[in-house]
Amino acid sequence: MKVAFFGGTFDPVHRGHLAVARAAADKFGLDRIYFAPADIPPHKQKRKLVDFQHRFAMLALATADDKRFVPSLLDAHTGAPNYSIDTVRRLKTMLKKTDKLYFLIGMDAFKDIASWRQPEELFAECEFIVASRPGFSLTQVCAVLPQSLRPSVATIKQRSLRMRQSGHSTATKSPVAHQASAENGHVILPGVTVHLLPDVHERVSSTQIRAAAAKSVKQLSRYVPLDVAEYVRKERLYVAPGESRQKEAVRRGKMLSLQQGSQHR
Ligand code: ATP
Repeated sequence: MKVAFFGGTFDPVHRGHLAVARAAADKFGLDRIYFAPADIPPHKQKRKLVDFQHRFAMLALATADDKRFVPSLLDAHTGAPNYSIDTVRRLKTMLKKTDKLYFLIGMDAFKDIASWRQPEELFAECEFIVASRPGFSLTQVCAVLPQSLRPSVATIKQRSLRMRQSGHSTATKSPVAHQASAENGHVILPGVTVHLLPDVHERVSSTQIRAAAAKSVKQLSRYVPLDVAEYVRKERLYVAPGESRQKEAVRRGKMLSLQQGSQHR
């Protein structure tokens, strides 16, 4: 079975996440994608996240109608930041030997991969699928690799010269083969395999949705599935406590003046 791990804050899950997962599942024939919200994401600790339970509930709603998508508790509360290397190793103990594991990620997150915990080990554990995201170029895939795995400029030049001379334009399986062209869609280096997914063009982010959370369900459902939009409104997520209190006071004020008006009639 082909399995992918798709981690993130998912605060909240949106159409961009689903487009990435759908495109990856279709292109690489994935049987299962585990959407795993991080309880404590190591790279996003500055902002207070919505409670894990809410982020998980929204993921469950968003993934319900695709049988390949599974909301996962792999990165639920452990009391420590969720490092991908630990999660992936844990996931692998649950898989069969014959299963193949991929790490699904958008280019905006992949560009920081060198600063992650034990990136070389993570590349050794699984192959990556890196999705395009508006504003982030997939041509940078080699350049952002950890120094120890990055091909030198001289090697790249030598290699492409040799390939041009021999009339080859695609990467070979040789250990020194490397190409970051979206043309053939793969980067294969010693210790690294990255498959490129250039077909995602969803200009949406969780940040954008949090900012728009006070809008109507109809407006929110442009960015998130309808069930998720309804959940956001029902649970009053992403609305500052002061803001909702203010709105409530205005509503009460209106009701009071209506009641007073009717008493005067
Ligand atoms: P925020 O706006 O809060 O930073 P986000 O929209 O980037 O959030 P995350 O939950 O941080 O969402 O993303 C989880 C994963 O999904 C990351 O690998 C990220 O690169 C990828 N991703 C999110 N949105 C998109 C998108 N619109 N296109 C491609 N990849 C995306």
